[in-house]
Amino acid sequence: MSIFTKIITGEIPSYKVAENEDFIAFLDINPNAKGHTLVVPKKEENKIFDLSKEAYSNLMDFSYRVAKALEKAVPCKRIGMSVIGLEVPHVHVHLVPTNVMSDMQFTHKVNLSSEEFVALAEQISKEFE
Ligand code: AMP
Repeated sequence: MSIFTKIITGEIPSYKVAENEDFIAFLDINPNAKGHTLVVPKKEENKIFDLSKEAYSNLMDFSYRVAKALEKAVPCKRIGMSVIGLEVPHVHVHLVPTNVMSDMQFTHKVNLSSEEFVALAEQISKEFE
């Protein structure tokens, strides 16, 4: 069972920003930038291109909605998107509020307090439609 499945089942906590029957979005615990969010299908699958075309499209639709909320909640030049999965083998889309190219480098990290995580998750979820 992946660490993200444990978040989905509520076994471990997360700073949740959006959820429906099939997807959940929560803040990355080790963010590249303020507001770095992960969008995760609830059905555990390792690699994004092993998803069915339909599941892939639905993931992109949900990510689009989260990105729109993120753009409203967190001032930035644009939302960067990336899919890697080398650390957690459970499909997830990284959405990163980006101002400079280094915000999309996964060696570039920012420290946030738990209060900041809580406030960010609340601001983003308020904008989610
Ligand atoms: P990758 O699998 O390389 O795409 O990266 C996995 C991402 O998941 C990293 O950016 C981690 O900081 C993030 N991550 C790992 N564990 C957690 C967790 N418990 N809650 C939120 N984010 C996590």
